[in-house]
Amino acid sequence: MRKIYFKKVQPHMFQLSIVIPVYNEEENIRPLHDSITKVVKGAKLSYEIIFVDDGSTDRSREVIKSIISQDGNVHPIYFKKNCGKTSAFDAGFKDARGDIIITMDGDLQNDPSDIPKFMDKIEHYDVVCGWRHDRKDPWVKLISSKIANFVRNAALKDGIYDSVCSFKAYRRECLEGLKLFDGMHRFLPALFMMEGWEVTQIKINHHPRIYGKSKYGIKNRFFRGIVDLLIVLWMKKRTLNYREEVVR
Ligand code: UDP
Ligand code: MG
Repeated sequence: MRKIYFKKVQPHMFQLSIVIPVYNEEENIRPLHDSITKVVKGAKLSYEIIFVDDGSTDRSREVIKSIISQDGNVHPIYFKKNCGKTSAFDAGFKDARGDIIITMDGDLQNDPSDIPKFMDKIEHYDVVCGWRHDRKDPWVKLISSKIANFVRNAALKDGIYDSVCSFKAYRRECLEGLKLFDGMHRFLPALFMMEGWEVTQIKINHHPRIYGKSKYGIKNRFFRGIVDLLIVLWMKKRTLNYREEVVR
């Protein structure tokens, strides 16, 4: 049977929606919720937190259920099975009711105290990308990521140092009508630039992962990353770029 997805039109209700993909992050969800709540309440923002459970097989779903029973600002999305980060972002974008949408990882590696910096910067831009300038990950990941960023930048010339970093802020207009494909979360800055949106970057904090395991390694990124890059490069070259002339 053909699946039909209806476009959701959500009312604007909050200043900020925070979308967090989680896949087997049972120990991280509650401390992350607590520290985000502290920051956004301190900044006096009206907000919602959207946890997207990407088919977790640990206790993540139970933890989210227990949080929503205590906090009306939290909105859950549960996937039937693991679908990957791009799908989780997409589902969060479609449900978000904030004027600004921030995405961040659910593993405590991103620091909620950076949220006010994103809110300040987004006043002047359409998309703000986090740059983990002092990244705290194993050296294999650091080197592979440096190479990937160099190659991507040489090809796409987007000028973004950390394209794959989840911590980003968007004005909601940028997300309307956005069509994503699996794996495209790695190229979001370039894709938004192609659409003509103003994209910038800010330095953010980064912490080592304490609980749970990283789900992305070289094996599941390398070949797909190259194919995806070629496709995005093609899209960039073929982006329609016409202007109509007013003739009197
Ligand atoms: N994640 C997800 N679905 C996946 C893989 C990861 O929702 O299939 C989430 C994960 O739970 C975390 C974020 O994406 O919140 C970043 O994942 P991870 O820390 O494993 O990636 P890394 O930081 O090591 O690149
Ligand atoms: Mg991580």
